Amino acid sequence: MLYMQLEKTMFREYDIRGLVDKELTKEAAKAIGKAFGTFLLKRKIRDCIIGHDAREYSERLQDAFTEGLTSTGINAIDIGLVITPITYFAQVHFKVKGCAMITASHNPNGWSGFKLGYDYAKTLLPEDIKEIYGIIEKEKFIKGKKTGKVKKKEILNDYIKDLISKVKIKPENRAKGKSENEAQKNKKFKIVINARNGTASEIAPPLFEKAGCEVIRQFCRIDFNSPNGNADPSLDEMLNETGKKVRKEKADLGFAFDGDGDRLGIVDEKGNAIYPDRWLILLAKGILKKYPKSKIVFDVKCTKALADEISKCSGVPVMWKTGHSHIKKKAHEIKAALAGERSGHIFFLKGYYGYDDACFAGLKILEFLSEENKKMSELIDDLPKYYSSPVIHAHCNDKAKYQIVNSLIKIFKKKFPGKVNDINGARLEFEDGFGLVRASSNLPALVLVFEAKSQKRLDEIIEVFKKELSNFKEIGEWKFGG
Ligand SMILES: [Zn+2]
Repeated sequence: MLYMQLEKTMFREYDIRGLVDKELTKEAAKAIGKAFGTFLLKRKIRDCIIGHDAREYSERLQDAFTEGLTSTGINAIDIGLVITPITYFAQVHFKVKGCAMITASHNPNGWSGFKLGYDYAKTLLPEDIKEIYGIIEKEKFIKGKKTGKVKKKEILNDYIKDLISKVKIKPENRAKGKSENEAQKNKKFKIVINARNGTASEIAPPLFEKAGCEVIRQFCRIDFNSPNGNADPSLDEMLNETGKKVRKEKADLGFAFDGDGDRLGIVDEKGNAIYPDRWLILLAKGILKKYPKSKIVFDVKCTKALADEISKCSGVPVMWKTGHSHIKKKAHEIKAALAGERSGHIFFLKGYYGYDDACFAGLKILEFLSEENKKMSELIDDLPKYYSSPVIHAHCNDKAKYQIVNSLIKIFKKKFPGKVNDINGARLEFEDGFGLVRASSNLPALVLVFEAKSQKRLDEIIEVFKKELSNFKEIGEWKFGG
């Protein structure tokens, strides 16, 4: 077959995603396996971890990918059905630099894809993805003298044990000043876990139980048909349903996991959704207590309150490009202690291995809560108040989107000199708020986020953007995401 026929649109900025059987056929998966094997061998890597998410066809695609990969001579360690962070953990645990996770993350049923890595806590960057596509296009596959071996390995228990050993949730704090009876009741965190039948369904609940929590399971039975909707905690809808359950159960917190368990959503004890850039402030405070003056990296979509609070706690705030591979790379380069994205990808470099892991972020939030001995809503209320918009998407075709953003950068620089941060799109910074427009990396859309000290000011900033964007006929209606 001609590998050149593989849809180029599957090869995105940081990973590969496609519609199963249409774009992502068995042959395609095999070709990607061969190309990735070739890519690894060029970097003198001879072993690769392989895991897959909970979808009907994931195992089938893993087999095809493995066939391609091992044909280059690479040995594979098959860890089976896992959340993405476990695949990264397996790299560290088994000291294997290559990794491949077969997943389409939170995409609906019918999609699959590949998250690939070639060093600890290092996933592919846009230039790496291009290289892999180039290998397939030119069919420049290395053929091994011998086919690589495949070994199956169990990892879940080691992962759970390791994570729990890295946090100190202090139940005794929560019992302080309470009667014996009350103390017993209060000691344990009661948490709702909503996995929306995704891969985290049967992994996160036992982990948090072993960490000493009482876990209320919400949609924690794996179901390939996602009967309760996509597992995507950046959707307000998923957070609201988690919030409802928290209120009903009188829980301390609710955790919502995305389809492959690398992104986390949180709701407080009142059932209110808290955007990740806000609870990231709590994690930053916790890490700065332990590692003063550390650098903390976050993406351009994050609240101003985050940078302000990091500085207040004598940390160094570093704003960087959106995209988990970019954030991870930057954080490692500048030796940051912690990094995070508004989308819910959180990376601990101090005290953990530096990749995004929703379970670990959840444990660290519980650790912080138990240290402070306050409720989640109280901790959030203590932070500087900003009014913020959800993440907004406006349709704009892939060809036009980058050019339009470049034009907007120029226009804003002219109109608001010294106020435009163009690390990634245009972030217009005011004393009392900001507005951001950037090209989405995986959708034909522009992404917009706004924030201000008052609702009135928020509306004003939004108006500035609305006016400028209305001059481009390629830009569609604004859709409020999460
Ligand atoms: Zn994910």
